[in-house]
Amino acid sequence: MHYPKPLAKLVGELEKLPGIGPKSAQRMAFHILRESDEDARLLTEAILEVKEKITQCVVCFNFADKETCDICSAEKRDQSTICVVSEPRDVIAMEKTNEYRGVYHVLQGVISPMDGIGPEMLRVRELQQRVISGEVKEIILATNPTIEGDTTAMYIAGILRPLGMKVTRIAHGMPVGGDLDYADQATLIRALEWRREI
Ligand SMILES: [Zn+2]
Repeated sequence: MHYPKPLAKLVGELEKLPGIGPKSAQRMAFHILRESDEDARLLTEAILEVKEKITQCVVCFNFADKETCDICSAEKRDQSTICVVSEPRDVIAMEKTNEYRGVYHVLQGVISPMDGIGPEMLRVRELQQRVISGEVKEIILATNPTIEGDTTAMYIAGILRPLGMKVTRIAHGMPVGGDLDYADQATLIRALEWRREI
């Protein structure tokens, strides 16, 4: 109401973004208004491009810009070790450690009865399939150390152990209830090194 219509529209759209309140939305909109046409064009292009080009990797369900993501298709990655995480952002956190050489499996969430999310809504069956059909030697469960993350890890361990699979859980060097992508790199490296078989 206080803005000219196009500006109100931009503020309204920005406010929909996570963690952006009315004040921040206004500041961002004013910034966009002041910046060059070229910068504004680059921003809109980047938004349209991710929507158009980013899909899910058909193997690990991480973000990808082609059928198979760069990690799954990299020859030097160890295909026999799969690190299971809940979200693509956890892959980025693990990659930042520069320590892990295996591949990933992104569940796309965690089991959470409170939110009505059961295992059948996650990419568990696809993980099972990878274990059955591939030459996997170890599954590292790296879901967050929360109740939901632990429940999910135990559920997956229960499914994969009967297949003769070595299943490990990353150590809880991380603050309980913490997020993988908030943990600093040293903590995450330790959590990975001190993983134990479950
Ligand atoms: Zn992949």
